Amino acid sequence: MAGRGDPIVRASRLGKRYGDLVAVDGIDFAVERGECFGFLGPNGAGKTTTLRMVTCVSPVSSGELTVAGMSVRSAARAIKGRLGVVPQADSLDPDLTVMQNLLCFARFFDLPAPVARDRSRRALELFQLRDKADRRPDELSGGMRRRLLIARALMHEPEVLVLDEPTTGLDPQTRLLVWDKLARLKAEGITMLLTTHYMEEAAHLCDRLVVIDHGRILVEGAPADLIAEHAGTEVVEVRVGPAERGPVLDHLRERGDSVEDRGESVIVYGSGGVLPDPGDLGVAGAARRAANLEDVFLRLTGRGLREE
Ligand code: ATP
Repeated sequence: MAGRGDPIVRASRLGKRYGDLVAVDGIDFAVERGECFGFLGPNGAGKTTTLRMVTCVSPVSSGELTVAGMSVRSAARAIKGRLGVVPQADSLDPDLTVMQNLLCFARFFDLPAPVARDRSRRALELFQLRDKADRRPDELSGGMRRRLLIARALMHEPEVLVLDEPTTGLDPQTRLLVWDKLARLKAEGITMLLTTHYMEEAAHLCDRLVVIDHGRILVEGAPADLIAEHAGTEVVEVRVGPAERGPVLDHLRERGDSVEDRGESVIVYGSGGVLPDPGDLGVAGAARRAANLEDVFLRLTGRGLREE
């Protein structure tokens, strides 16, 4: 059993193979109690596979993985009881109402009926679904269904909430609402593991994160520290059309600046830690802006498309 101060999730040389394919290639990470820990990476990087091992859905091929001090190899049932899981795919029961979906899920965890009813009502209130209690999932919008999935994952009051792309496909208003609820849960002390393709989401929610590519961890740290280390405080972004792109890149490289070609824009990281004045670059459409997590992500993983 984990004592206070021990990581609640710890992976050591964790690996996963599908036949010849190495999906997760011997990674190490430790998630502290109460933190929000993010997994970023291009499509196919190994994020979902990692979460599926943590949630005991997919067996570990090599290495060690513990949740609350228990090995996923031998204590899957006990671990599952401590985790709330919000999967990428919508796994609501289409034949049950919103309220019945919550009550039915509560039965898996042997919650007494009055407790289940009380928690369901509170969860629907928290996720602003109270007036949908008697509707079926296919009568809800995508954002409402996602909120219901999160509400359902919280029914047994798990210590750790595992969220696989919790806001993919949601409109900005619903995304903000979900962020607000997740921030509130975190303030109450719940630990969160999350994957996302939204850099702003990771920067907003995560205390620490890893960037994964090809099954390996490239970097780990707090968002602000990763930005400072890998992208600096500011960058210069140059908007370019297809015709001017080549000459602009040549010009910047001749100056000795570190540049990154993103197609419709070129990012200038400067040279030796010194950023050029946009007005001195001799190109139109250049402006300074704050460096962000997307700069870190693209600098580390490149802009080539990945396998699905
Ligand atoms: P995405 O951002 O697209 O969700 P991901 O980082 O979550 O990507 P994974 O779903 O973990 O990536 O996939 C990692 C690798 O493992 C990919 O090459 C994928 O094709 C492969 N993979 C995942 N699940 C299986 C499976 N059940 N059988 C065979 N290969 C799989």
